Amino acid sequence: MKFKTLSVHAGQQPDPHTGALTTAVVQSSTFSYFSAEEGRARFAGQNPGFIYSRFANPTTAELEAKLAVLEGAQSAMVLASGMAAVSSILYALLDSGDEVAFVDPLYGGTDAFLQQTLVRAGIKVRRYSSDEALLNNISANTKLVLFETLTNPNLKVTDPRKVVQAAKKVGAISVCDNTFLTPYLLQPLALGIDLVMHSATKYLGGHGDIIAGVVAGGEALMAKVRTVALKHIGSPIGPQEAYLLQRGVKTLALRMQAHLSNAEQVAMFLSSHPAVSKVIYPGLASDPGHAVLTQISRGFGGMISLELAGGFERCADFLDKLQLFTQAVSLGDLESLACHPASTTHAAMSEQARQDAGVNDNLVRLSIGVEDADDLIADLAQALA
Ligand SMILES: *Cc1c(COP(=O)(O)O)cnc(C)c1O
Repeated sequence: MKFKTLSVHAGQQPDPHTGALTTAVVQSSTFSYFSAEEGRARFAGQNPGFIYSRFANPTTAELEAKLAVLEGAQSAMVLASGMAAVSSILYALLDSGDEVAFVDPLYGGTDAFLQQTLVRAGIKVRRYSSDEALLNNISANTKLVLFETLTNPNLKVTDPRKVVQAAKKVGAISVCDNTFLTPYLLQPLALGIDLVMHSATKYLGGHGDIIAGVVAGGEALMAKVRTVALKHIGSPIGPQEAYLLQRGVKTLALRMQAHLSNAEQVAMFLSSHPAVSKVIYPGLASDPGHAVLTQISRGFGGMISLELAGGFERCADFLDKLQLFTQAVSLGDLESLACHPASTTHAAMSEQARQDAGVNDNLVRLSIGVEDADDLIADLAQALA
């Protein structure tokens, strides 16, 4: 079956007791040692089933079954946040003395975790400027490679196929943060990536009302990540959030189609506006990531960055004049959002690192929502004027 059908139906059956179509929110921290077959209590651990919601919960389990199908994975898990996903993967799969490689740039929180916390566990962190640099120069000691398919805020595309090739050379595990593209647009596991992760706070949840993370991949790696994430670090998602995330995932394809179509129209408008000195959007044929995404992705995502002629003051003025776009960080919500990366999401970076990464003072990042494109364009037009 196709993605839209699976996103609605996979991993889900009417409740055997009540017939309810939607998943029940099982708001219970612990579960009795009870055998449904025998209809009586059964001594600890003598029958399979749920034990304690930090390890597994029925609401979360249904969501995980759906996500495994959508990612084409043997196993998927949901966690308390995207950062819980990143940190659990790295703590679970790396030992003191190991080397982790990443393709620059990463989400700010991930970068900070690698450079400030992971190094304290005796793990070496090595940065590569691009997928090509990784492929040509990967260190033989690399245990794991981490990258984002489409990244913040310059929407740089890293080709998962090149990362797979590089990782194979040295026997490293490849981990892809596919938050910006989602499994509707691209399934990294099908390209040979070992683990895919998401900040489900963004498009997967899609409504800006939860914080959540997802990891999916083969059973052997997932078992390690699951143990560390849930038993050791202790970062399960709550059943209420799992319910909301499941509800969001059911409309992922519909929402992504709206995000894509709006982004395309907004990018065209911005490209022809004299006050905009640069539009960064991989859907433009001139974009360096356009060719790769055309080959491997169903679309170019819903994020657009732009540079304004006139620098910081002009950006601040533009952002303050927006009425329909909300000035906020995060992305992938129904509402269109705008932010100034240099002073918000990337404020922790040094001036030099920001320059190297192209996070200029006149750069604005837009998360294009699902409103009517005409209204979004009208808002941008009045703010630019
Ligand atoms: C937001 C984000 C994260 C972190 O996720 P949280 O849900 O905020 O913890 C990780 N990677 C990317 C690409 C993100 O955009």
